[in-house]
Amino acid sequence: MHARWTGRDEGDMGHRGRHVTEVDAAVESRRRAVLDRPWTWLRQVHGTGVVVVEGPGAGAGQVADASVSTSPGAALAILTADCAPVALASPEGVLGAVHAGWRGLRAGVVEAAVAAMRRLGASEVVAALGPCLHAECCAFSPEDLDSVATRLGPSVRGRTREGGAALDIPAAVAAALEGAQARLVAASAQCTACGPGYFSHRARGDLERQALVVWR
Ligand SMILES: [Zn+2]
Repeated sequence: MHARWTGRDEGDMGHRGRHVTEVDAAVESRRRAVLDRPWTWLRQVHGTGVVVVEGPGAGAGQVADASVSTSPGAALAILTADCAPVALASPEGVLGAVHAGWRGLRAGVVEAAVAAMRRLGASEVVAALGPCLHAECCAFSPEDLDSVATRLGPSVRGRTREGGAALDIPAAVAAALEGAQARLVAASAQCTACGPGYFSHRARGDLERQALVVWR
């Protein structure tokens, strides 16, 4: 399994908005420079929908927040600017890619993707987490934080740099994976807000998106 997380240097990989059904030529060419295959990108809505990708480019533009595949030609793509991009793989060659923001994490998108992989024959599922918003930059309302902690446990409670209530997104991803009996084997130390080289909606209001792309 291969997984690649892009940053500012590779340019905007996003298709600007949930209602877009066509990717413009400049974006498509930047995507192809990263991986020269048709990408299965999703119209992400912070839900738990999982697309089963049957072949290269299949399912592109569907409304969902995760994709899974056994196809050797597939390129599973997720677009982010603070949410967590999670790559999944199994020894059987089943792949997954997940867009995990706080709403999706609370709703169970990670667990839904792992379950979809198991339906395709995955036994052991391993995961790698890319750059996302980290707790020090993720001030959060106590009510919303409580709702995530109720679902995923106390490890999701972090602190901002100033000591305020914060969501620890990497901890939330780890808790969701543990609940799905998947194993987190790699995690980026980079925060999209204060780390160099990433687009961040929270820190800078960036409209651009970095990509996770998973293939084999
Ligand atoms: Zn940060």
